[in-house]
Amino acid sequence: MAKFGTVFCDKFSIARYEDGAWQPAALQPLAPLSIHPAAHVFHYASSCFEGFKAYRWSDGKARIFRLADHVRRMQRSADSLRLPVPDADMLAGMVIDLVAAQIDDIPAPPSSLYLRPTLIGTLENIGAAAAPSTEATLFVLGSPVGDYFEGGARPLKLLVDDQRARSTEQLGSTKTGGNYAAALGPTLDAKAKYGVDQVLFCPGGDVQETGAANFLLISDDEIITKPLDTSFLHGMTRDSILRLAADQGYTVNERNFTVAELLEFVSHYEAALSGTAACLSPVGGLVYNGKEIPVRDGLPGGNTEKLRKALQDIQYGIAPDVHGWLTEV
Ligand SMILES: *Cc1c(COP(=O)(O)O)cnc(C)c1O
Repeated sequence: MAKFGTVFCDKFSIARYEDGAWQPAALQPLAPLSIHPAAHVFHYASSCFEGFKAYRWSDGKARIFRLADHVRRMQRSADSLRLPVPDADMLAGMVIDLVAAQIDDIPAPPSSLYLRPTLIGTLENIGAAAAPSTEATLFVLGSPVGDYFEGGARPLKLLVDDQRARSTEQLGSTKTGGNYAAALGPTLDAKAKYGVDQVLFCPGGDVQETGAANFLLISDDEIITKPLDTSFLHGMTRDSILRLAADQGYTVNERNFTVAELLEFVSHYEAALSGTAACLSPVGGLVYNGKEIPVRDGLPGGNTEKLRKALQDIQYGIAPDVHGWLTEV
């Protein structure tokens, strides 16, 4: 299958916010948008998005994973950017309409339909740096995606950066474009210099997350990860893995930890990145102060694989959805 995010459904859902209200959403043929060059988003980065998946089961129906939670997260992102907040029912309906229209194009698991709601500020005013965009466009793109782990889970290598932050206290938990722009330079530099896959941002030694995934430490009976605060993105995969781990008897230890502690933990804990695209990916090594530090023996760990499979079994319809995470379409 083509590279993640480069193939699109031929329809998308779109709604406009104007005159102080959301106008009715419509499903339309996918086509370029016409946006005024003075639109707020181009100058002041008033944009946020979501990313989650729908799976087509063997019964021919689709299941959307944690739709209501992703809608709520998008509402919080919009609110933090002072963008018009989409109605929950409207946004969920836009996603469901798109999935229903594209159901035949959703590849069978482990492939899926990746869904990308996006909200942008379209107020035409280049003097609005300190003013909210009172007009906006909301759309939902669909993109069929293949199996991330085709050919097996390859352990990732991370550069541990104990200086820089990925984002700010204020916007760390907002899924907004500017955060990815901020992480891009450091990540590209790290790839070029150290051959790593990602940067683990640990400002002041506080282990936070990478450019687009949360970080977890996993042993045979415990999961350690940073507790929710506004400095990092509250991943739905993180939350789901923690709940499934608790179900299976792991102790879930949400606590802050330092780079010094991290370097000790990885001699005997597995490390993993969590996010919608890759679910739970094993980390095989770290680079810190120019030195390579393996995570245990550098190979994918059994606990990481077990927890990833537990989540995927629910998404693929192999295990029961005991937490009510799936919306049937
Ligand atoms: C989207 C994202 C995640 C993962 O969130 P999921 O809901 O698990 O997909 C983690 N960190 C960042 C910075 C993200 O943008």
